[in-house]
This record gives sequence, C-alpha cells and structure tokens, in this order.
Amino acid sequence: MNCKKVIKLISDYIDKEIEETQREIVEEHLKICRRCLSILNTIEKTIFLSKTLYKRKKVPKRIEKTLYYQIRIRYKK
Ligand SMILES: [Zn+2]
Repeated sequence: MNCKKVIKLISDYIDKEIEETQREIVEEHLKICRRCLSILNTIEKTIFLSKTLYKRKKVPKRIEKTLYYQIRIRYKK
C-alpha cells in the first residue's frame, strides 16, 4: 500500500468505519511510515481539540472536511 491510499483510508480508520483487512494494512503501513503516522497524529489531535471546543461527540462535518482537505494539500507538496 502506498501513502496516497493510506491517506484516503485514514478518515475511515479514525472513525473506525474501516474493514478489518484494510485496517490491518493501514496499521502495517503506519509502522513503517513516519509521515503517515504524523498525519494521523495531526488529525487525531485536531479532532480531539474540536470535540472539546464544540462539546460534541462528533466533529462537525465542515471542520472534518476542511481538515482532510488541508492534509491532502500539504501532502501533495
Ligand atoms: Zn505513508
């Protein structure tokens, strides 16, 4: 699996809406790829912060979308 595919799966991975086999693939990749791991950490931190900020269980979709968009942009550079 390459980084691009992992990045695509990472939102499902965080939401735990990922198939077992794919989850394993992502986790295997995260063990060997520091870049994806740091992206995952960034997303989780942001989600955690916005949850605290909005006092909601779910992060507003708008924020989630912006976040993933920014990550993809950054990633392309
Ligand atoms: Zn990677």
